[in-house]
Amino acid sequence: MVQVAIIGGGVIGCAVGLELARRGTQAHVIDRNGEVGHGSTSASCGIVRRFYSTRTMTGMAHEGAAVWADWQSYLRAPDGADLARFERPGMLFIPPAIDDRVRGIVAHMRELGVKVEILTPAEVAERFPFMDIASHAPVRDPNDEDFADDTGREIAGAVFEPDAGYVVSPLIAARDLRSAGEREGVRFHLGCGVAALRAGAAPGPRFRLTLDDGSALDADVVVNVAGPHSSLVNRMAGVELPIETRPLRREVCAVGNPTWSESDGSTIPVVGDLDSGIYFRPESGGRDLIVGSLDPACDTFEWVDDPDALDPSCSVAAHERQVMRLMKRLPEVRFGPRRGIAGLYDVTPLDWNPIIDKTDTPGYYVAIGTSGSSFKTAPVIGQVMAELIGACEAGRDHDADPLHVILPRTGFDLDVSFFTRLRSARPSTGTVIG
Ligand SMILES: Cc1cc2nc3c(=O)[nH]c(=O)nc-3n(C[C@H](O)[C@H](O)[C@H](O)COP(=O)(O)OP(=O)(O)OC[C@H]3O[C@@H](n4cnc5c(N)ncnc54)[C@H](O)[C@@H]3O)c2cc1C
Repeated sequence: MVQVAIIGGGVIGCAVGLELARRGTQAHVIDRNGEVGHGSTSASCGIVRRFYSTRTMTGMAHEGAAVWADWQSYLRAPDGADLARFERPGMLFIPPAIDDRVRGIVAHMRELGVKVEILTPAEVAERFPFMDIASHAPVRDPNDEDFADDTGREIAGAVFEPDAGYVVSPLIAARDLRSAGEREGVRFHLGCGVAALRAGAAPGPRFRLTLDDGSALDADVVVNVAGPHSSLVNRMAGVELPIETRPLRREVCAVGNPTWSESDGSTIPVVGDLDSGIYFRPESGGRDLIVGSLDPACDTFEWVDDPDALDPSCSVAAHERQVMRLMKRLPEVRFGPRRGIAGLYDVTPLDWNPIIDKTDTPGYYVAIGTSGSSFKTAPVIGQVMAELIGACEAGRDHDADPLHVILPRTGFDLDVSFFTRLRSARPSTGTVIG
């Protein structure tokens, strides 16, 4: 039986392992941490929406949403299992303009069967009365003397996906995938990282992996799913890709949710607010809100050279920036003590889309550069990678004859070459919208 070594036990590595096992392959998931999901997955906000700038990502996200909505049966988990939950308060997306581009994305979402509406500013105010509908664009730093100025304009409107939401919690979802994988034969090697990766001695397996404790694992196929460590793992393997991936520091802060009450809970949807440069969603059963950045032009990207040197605490500057921007959209929010976490995106700076591909090294595959938005599609990436490995190992030249996968829940025809390492720059927002 083909032995596949998966380097990284985040939500995507665990999904790849499960999908390979379902296709009769012996998968080994290796993670340096003692439990799965403790890399960038554990910092994830777990937001599941379909609003992306490209048709491919929208289609993939729609399939992802269908999997999260049917999580127990996807996992084939026993009744009563305590699993991650998909909370669906809807998602309101506030773009800078409701223009042809936005209308085109919405039309495509509708073609795919996604429930979606375009709301006028008045409709936003009526449905979400706790939201101030003033426009704050261009987004400013709180230290900018014009930060508090009234622009005298309203937002252009918003796109509302009523059944979007977030998964509680990404860490539990990774653990669910581990349990499902173990039931179906995936072997997990935890608490010990991959320290070296060399070509094996012919005619044996193609690769020999040396773990931190000196033990070795032989494999015919290796998959790099190491998240923010992806470029380090490629370097260790001697694999150079034509496009790079880089870790980017991200911070997510928590504040009290002003709409929460004991009787009604929270009434706030997930909000992606490009007009204010932030996104936010309910947390802790709705008692809190968590707020992250949508990378407005006035902010500086914090690229990280060493992902192991991450300080996981929320900085004073990010807390101030994100909470003060939130206070403009939700005037009842109070600043409060500094709470939050920092994590890392693994970004493909070229276009903020993942790289899901084979490489020029036979048997070495990558599902990396997920650019802060691939929690929602993790189970789909697992399926796509398993299909890709199956096709390429059977002799298909995916570079010349790109694989298509018909996604089973939505019927979306996914052209896997969208994620090729060989692509050149395509139009991108340079954010998690792709
Ligand atoms: C703050 C934040 C918010 C986010 N919010 C969202 C969101 O709302 N919606 C969404 O869809 N996505 C979101 N994302 C993105 C999403 O979480 C990631 O795309 C996804 O979790 C990546 O999963 P992964 O398995 O590829 O990586 P990881 O979870 O990082 O897993 C990689 C694993 O590789 C292991 N590893 C690394 N090197 C080695 C080695 N040498 N040997 C062995 N193991 C190794 C690490 O220990 C780690 O566990 C967010 C990300 C962050 C950081």
